[in-house]
Amino acid sequence: MNKKIAFFPGSFDPFTKGHQDIVLRALNLFDEIVIGIGHNSNKSRYFNLEKMQKSIEKTFIGKPVKVISYTDLTANMALQVGAQFILRGLRNTTDFEYENSISQVNRNISGSLETIFLITSPSLAPISSSIVRELYKFGTNIEDYIPYSLKDLE
Ligand code: ADP
Repeated sequence: MNKKIAFFPGSFDPFTKGHQDIVLRALNLFDEIVIGIGHNSNKSRYFNLEKMQKSIEKTFIGKPVKVISYTDLTANMALQVGAQFILRGLRNTTDFEYENSISQVNRNISGSLETIFLITSPSLAPISSSIVRELYKFGTNIEDYIPYSLKDLE
């Protein structure tokens, strides 16, 4: 049987414990997860891309998780890595509104790509990359919100 592969796209700027939770839970559903750090050459990231990729790899060492970075359209990238599924997390209705249209578009691109949503674990729902970034910029310790060591990013 074909391996069930899910592509988990995001900016991951930075990757948080909320993202980690989605991946760990998805590992019970899929044979392999490919985490795709999407970046746009016109839009600069806050945290270094290569360091983020390595930190995520370290987080899932020994598990069937790959980490790539990409600039292509998400649906194209998902197909390219052999995924049949796109994985996304849902925290609230704002996420839902956005995800709803994106998943329809992705299905138009490829009818075989099914988007699977996992509802966030309540204790992790308030964590967002933008809040973690903001805390970091103002010198607050963010180690409670990330699953790897902050030293790996600096
Ligand atoms: P994007 O820029 O594509 O929204 P993010 O890196 O912010 O990328 O998020 C990637 C995915 O992870 C999205 O589906 C988002 O809803 C989900 N996500 C982000 N934070 C959490 C969290 N705390 N709990 C569950 N899912 C989350």
